[in-house]
Amino acid sequence: MDRGYIFGDGIYEAFLIKNSKFIDFEPHMKRMKRSLDIVNITLPEFSKIEMICNDLLKLNSINSALMYVQITRGELPTREHNMPHSNTPSVIVIAYPEREQTKEWIENGISCMLAQDIRWTRRDIKSLNLLGNVMLKQKASDCGFDDVIFYEKGSLVVTEASSSNVIIIKDDKLITHPVNNYILDGITKNRTIQLAKTIGIETIEKEFIIDDLFTASSVLLTSSGYKIRLCTNIDGRPINDGKICKIGRLLFNTMEKWINE
Ligand code: PMP
Repeated sequence: MDRGYIFGDGIYEAFLIKNSKFIDFEPHMKRMKRSLDIVNITLPEFSKIEMICNDLLKLNSINSALMYVQITRGELPTREHNMPHSNTPSVIVIAYPEREQTKEWIENGISCMLAQDIRWTRRDIKSLNLLGNVMLKQKASDCGFDDVIFYEKGSLVVTEASSSNVIIIKDDKLITHPVNNYILDGITKNRTIQLAKTIGIETIEKEFIIDDLFTASSVLLTSSGYKIRLCTNIDGRPINDGKICKIGRLLFNTMEKWINE
């Protein structure tokens, strides 16, 4: 049985291909290598991933997709926790249709529920273990919200959303959680920060709490799948009177332009 199946012993990456171009391929591969190194999975033919992704696109005659790459420690005959000394990893690459934001989301923003972060504390590793994310996202959907934003018990520090980083806009600056083991260092978050800089908007990487969400002029959720989603309502309370602020809209448009150019 594959250890990915038995233990969730594996990692993954997901990234966009748009107009036959890989979006931020290098940082995604760098992060995948980092995840592999941390969990000690050796993939001798790592460099072939790009070729496989290209072949998949050609074989399916598509020019836009969300690519999913999963690497597990591979198959072993017994259910033994200890990692084997040598093993052949299993690799799968899937091209999913690109996820589009709805017109409603783009024009009026999404709604989010708040939930205590119940996940493990190595969120910097893009591991297959997403049960906490899945359970809370489902709860949000069942309650009629588009997504869920996590906060730490006690400190009320906002970490991330079910599959996105969270950025708030305050006093015309971006604020986002510092890079550490409590969040995934999102490629789209980093791209948003870089694009913001090019249009003169500064970013501060520091912790912020639930209250800061409600006093922000915009709350942004960033992910490779959807790029920037603007959140205008949290737990039924409007953010910035339910309106997307100028900088939020500008960043959304700047990202769309960058991806499509
Ligand atoms: N945090 C979590 C928990 C995620 O699953 C994702 C999406 N993979 C992100 C943040 C955003 O990361 P990225 O922008 O690299 O897709």
